[in-house]
Amino acid sequence: MNKKPLKPLLKSEIPSHIKVDLKSQHIVYGKKRYGYSVVNVICIKCGKITEYPIGSLRNKFKKGFSGCCQKCHPRWRTKTKGGIKYGGGYRYLHVDIIEPEIIQSAKKAGINVARPSNYIAEHRVIAFRKYGSIVFEKGILVRHLDGNKINNSPDNLVIGTNQDNVNDHVTARREAALWRTIALTLFSMLKNRDVE
Ligand SMILES: [Zn+2]
Repeated sequence: MNKKPLKPLLKSEIPSHIKVDLKSQHIVYGKKRYGYSVVNVICIKCGKITEYPIGSLRNKFKKGFSGCCQKCHPRWRTKTKGGIKYGGGYRYLHVDIIEPEIIQSAKKAGINVARPSNYIAEHRVIAFRKYGSIVFEKGILVRHLDGNKINNSPDNLVIGTNQDNVNDHVTARREAALWRTIALTLFSMLKNRDVE
């Protein structure tokens, strides 16, 4: 653990107004040997530390990043209908506080981002940051490992199939079999992508 990232974030890449704790860079491992580099960003307003995958942070820098945490982000307060909304036991984020690339990907997958009224379920947004556009693919669901629908911390979110959701409280043996299916699906998808 705490392995050095493969492509470390360099001081020269960071816009001058943004506070990044470069020493915090490390690799995070999810299920199945899936590793990605993360770094801590310190909110320029309140000092809150938020961990970001380095890849998505680089994209944020390109698109213009405020350097604030989610709560201090100016659009949180100015947008009357913005921010967080609860429905069906889930948390939803307004499109204004979601990265454009995530909204694009959701739209491309045919997800109606206008329902309920310009919101996307927070767990899908966070799963996107962790797994990429696969979270919006047909038959793929984002599941909460602890069963708490509003615990949307990346560690608590995994992707699975419809079938997984039906069998969410099945034995570990069956769960392992389902994960194998997902791994194989992912593998074949990646393989197909390489062919193109
Ligand atoms: Zn803040």
